[in-house]
Amino acid sequence: MKVVLASKNQHKLVEISAILSKLDIELVLESELGVDIDVEETGATFEENSFLKANAVMQATGLPALADDSGIAVDALNGEPGIYSARYGFDDSLDDWGRLLLLLKNMEAVPDEKRTGRFVCVITMVYPDGRTVWARGEAEGLILREARGEGGFGYDPIFYYPPAGVTFAELPAAKKNKVSHRANALKALFEKLSKEKEYDNK
Ligand code: IMP
Repeated sequence: MKVVLASKNQHKLVEISAILSKLDIELVLESELGVDIDVEETGATFEENSFLKANAVMQATGLPALADDSGIAVDALNGEPGIYSARYGFDDSLDDWGRLLLLLKNMEAVPDEKRTGRFVCVITMVYPDGRTVWARGEAEGLILREARGEGGFGYDPIFYYPPAGVTFAELPAAKKNKVSHRANALKALFEKLSKEKEYDNK
């Protein structure tokens, strides 16, 4: 079955394809089908935003489509930046590093024991007949007071992952890709699609 990934990111394609190819799913980027859709993320949840992206690409291509939405949710900030992680501060002059510094600043007064948070990823698959499958993955950690490590991207340098004893930016990419919120969402999606396939084959 051909499925379109609502993304322009080749790395995401490789990471997700590796798992879904086991289900005979051939994943293609929307750009390979000549589609380039910029969906406004107007939803209030990761689920809504990933649905908006997948649904738009499904409608444009007529094929099942898959999209993800992710971010970091900090407990002491009532879940912020959350779905606004990529736009935190709503200041176009900020880059990833600027947003990381803004988060640290907004958490200056938060004591160590309250610096809990998690990366969240929701992957949504929408079929042309309207069926929708949602899968959520999380990675629990602590928000440090300063950046550590050179790897990863976004908020990785301040996200301390207790099971590994390092930040996500200090973890080798191959290791991060096994334990991350995206990896956990993908595992959940794989489980759900496997069950659907078993059911369809009965
Ligand atoms: P999305 O592209 O709309 O899913 O937004 C994701 C945003 O969340 C990124 O711009 C990052 O700021 C943050 N984010 C998501 N996943 C990660 C990760 O694995 N490491 C660091 N930051 C992440």
